[in-house]
Amino acid sequence: MSEVKELIPDRLPEHVLIIDDSEIQRHFMAELCRDFGIRGILHAEDGRRAIELLKSQPQIEAIILDLEMPHMDGVQVLHELANLGLDPAVIVASARENTLLNVVESLGKSLGLRLLGVLRKPVLRDQLVSSLSRYSAVQLRSEGEEQYDSGPELSVRDVQRAVRNREFEAYFQPKIALQDGRLKGVEALVRWNHPVYGMLPPGRFMELVERSQFISELTLQMLDQSLRHCLVWQAAGLELSVSINVSARSLADSLLADAIIDRVSASGIPPCRVILEITESAIMTDLSTTLGTLARLRLKGFGLSVDDYGTGFSCMLQLSRVPCTELKVDRAFVNGACQSTHLRVLLESALDIARKFNLRVVAEGVETEDDWMLLRNLGCDEAQGYLLARPMPGWQLLGWWDEHAVRLSHIA
Ligand code: C2E
Ligand code: CA
Ligand code: CA
Repeated sequence: MSEVKELIPDRLPEHVLIIDDSEIQRHFMAELCRDFGIRGILHAEDGRRAIELLKSQPQIEAIILDLEMPHMDGVQVLHELANLGLDPAVIVASARENTLLNVVESLGKSLGLRLLGVLRKPVLRDQLVSSLSRYSAVQLRSEGEEQYDSGPELSVRDVQRAVRNREFEAYFQPKIALQDGRLKGVEALVRWNHPVYGMLPPGRFMELVERSQFISELTLQMLDQSLRHCLVWQAAGLELSVSINVSARSLADSLLADAIIDRVSASGIPPCRVILEITESAIMTDLSTTLGTLARLRLKGFGLSVDDYGTGFSCMLQLSRVPCTELKVDRAFVNGACQSTHLRVLLESALDIARKFNLRVVAEGVETEDDWMLLRNLGCDEAQGYLLARPMPGWQLLGWWDEHAVRLSHIA
């Protein structure tokens, strides 16, 4: 497994603040941290002192936080961090029951904090290092998000111009087989190469596009670019599947299915290598048209994937209605599943359901080696996530694979 680690070298935080009213606990944690080579260790005996330190010492990168403390308890500390805009990575360590820890975990996430783990005391050495080693992945993610923090106001007219000028670009993120480390396919993820604002991620404009009449056109442009790249990769000896995201509006457009079928057939790529990823909420709107479209595509041999599995309502019901071939477990269930029993239970049940419906399972958002190992042990088929690669322009894929194929085959 050390090979995977090298893809994103783990950097542990250098300055850690341990917040616990028990001196014995603080020294125990400090000892573990020192074992991992962390040199800058600070102590706080309650929440108030911790907040003072965090304000005055911005070099503190992570905190290890007890929940039960006098004056200001751990939950209050989490709220205070969010209120003050303080942004250390957070590990919660408490002896309290799992149900309470689960609530604290959800709270941390909903406050937008960078949560590395919620650990039950007595904390084991392995658990602590595995949480701490999530630091670089979480750090990378928030750096990526910061770039787009404040941004331009975009309008439907901008979208119309962008569609006409072909400013939308497909990036591709590899899907790797957990059993043998082989590259199975890629997911196409749209980026807007804006002439003024630069490369914009879908979070900045997808809602706007979906509300416009250009959504089908965007889907087709993504398909065209994907097919072109697919042919290049095929010529280089890589027979990859390519997954395209399809949203609600597109599926209600029955002409879209014809356009997709025509273009794929003209390209010479067999339909079974094109997977359409459909979000559950998309499946639920205008059910009859949508189901008709999906049934036709499936008849022609396209792969159909239920995207973001687990986040919508009545997931199981949808699975029985939609003729799908793949289930894509949302990263909310994957990320940190090794640290959280309740996530793990949900993940296991998703895999169980998939097996019963005879579906391939792809886990998205795999960020750490531990996530990878857990998924492999649970029998998940494919993984996708920052641990393996971030989405990249199509021309970079062959180079990336040249560089990483051997390492990835060693993981298996
Ligand atoms: P999604 O379909 O769930 O795609 C996965 C998202 O997770 C992508 O974000 C991907 O970059 C990100 N991701 C991948 N690995 C990791 C990881 O290890 N950690 C974390 N934190 N994130 C990871 P992206 O590219 O920003 O896309 C966001 C969403 O925009 C997609 O979510 C999808 O719903 C939508 N989208 C993207 N491209 C298209 C498109 O061409 N058409 C439509 N209709 N929607 C699209
Ligand atoms: Ca997707
Ligand atoms: Ca998702």
